Amino acid sequence: MRKPVMAGNWKMNCDNEEALQLADGVTARAGQVEDALVILCPPATALSTVHQVIANSNVKLGAQNLFWEEEGAFTGELSAKMLLSCGCEFVIVGHSERRGRFGNPDEAEVEDLGAIFGDTDATVNRKIHAALAAGLQPIVCVGELLAERQAGATDDVVEDQVRAALEGVTEEAAGNIIFAYEPVWAIGTGEVCDADEADRVCGMIRQILAAIYSDDLAEGMQVLYGGSVKPENVEGLMAQDNIDGGLVGGASLQADSFGRLIEAAVASAG
Ligand code: PEP
Repeated sequence: MRKPVMAGNWKMNCDNEEALQLADGVTARAGQVEDALVILCPPATALSTVHQVIANSNVKLGAQNLFWEEEGAFTGELSAKMLLSCGCEFVIVGHSERRGRFGNPDEAEVEDLGAIFGDTDATVNRKIHAALAAGLQPIVCVGELLAERQAGATDDVVEDQVRAALEGVTEEAAGNIIFAYEPVWAIGTGEVCDADEADRVCGMIRQILAAIYSDDLAEGMQVLYGGSVKPENVEGLMAQDNIDGGLVGGASLQADSFGRLIEAAVASAG
């Protein structure tokens, strides 16, 4: 039985005071939850603050990105070792926004986001290796653009991203990865993917894992859905066989709505 997961990706939101308040609210509401894995991924500036708030709870800390080198002349980047020293146990890798792939037309209009954010399948793979080598659990994001879905390319895009992410990763190491299927057109847009379709793609990811590694690995790996998860739609998503939880942006920014998502994750375990 896979443990349900609810991971909050705060993105570029919350200064230190706001992060403290939000982490405090989540911890007060769900800090002692045992039947679901609750992960908060604040901006890097608030990692240490949030770590202190969650210290005596079951809530875990994740970062939103990392760089693959251990140290050196890489201005603005953060290594796995630095994230570990802030108390992180998880790190999001390959989020579509880090790949410069946006679901919201306003953001897509910003020039050359791919070059600014820069992640490619190859860099995602290097980051996964660095995270795993350091003992961080990567939450690896994959998903198609609206145009790719409309062209019937969803399965090919997702399969290519999953296979590229896992290049050179041993089965033992892969056991520490969490995958998140995040259709880009559903991220921050209010458009949620139908639960059946999200389940189908998460199931396909599991089949790819079985083909690369083994049925055991595929059965044991937590696969999340992300894309406009909210209290109103979470139950339908959590009821799906292949969806083990959510990677949540907007609805993780309020302790009340995130608390309701955690409750749905706990309920799905029972
Ligand atoms: C995300 O940040 O990965 C995400 C899915 O955002 P939202 O829940 O706001 O769509």
